[in-house]
Amino acid sequence: MSEKTIFQKIIDREIPAPLVYEDDLVAAFNDINPQAPIHVLIVPKKLIPRVGEAVAEDQATLGALFLAAGKIADKLGVKDRSRGFRLVVNHGHDAGETVPHLHMHLLAGRDLAWPPG
Ligand code: C5P
Repeated sequence: MSEKTIFQKIIDREIPAPLVYEDDLVAAFNDINPQAPIHVLIVPKKLIPRVGEAVAEDQATLGALFLAAGKIADKLGVKDRSRGFRLVVNHGHDAGETVPHLHMHLLAGRDLAWPPG
């Protein structure tokens, strides 16, 4: 069996990281290298390496990532349309993926440029 990802170790509480949110399917914690005043990673408890490798049976887990994002944005005070947030999922080399465990970035707390880099 391949070694656990860093995110799996956080989810399994082998590496300490305060959880911003948790439910049966996902957990969320602050990014160690934040790119905005709010930068949360929302991670499925099931290992899906990257979004393009999700399968039909992962549908509920994929939905849970988005539902968690809304709850976290609300909790952190950026859900109102006058504030706002951005969700990012990087798949593969060209997108800059560095951890092979699906994760959704929730970025907020500053003006987020568009198009992204
Ligand atoms: O989408 P990508 O794979 O590039 O994102 C990985 C993210 O995981 C980075 O933003 C990085 O700062 C974060 N990270 C972390 N804690 C670690 C290792 C990486 O928050 N121990």
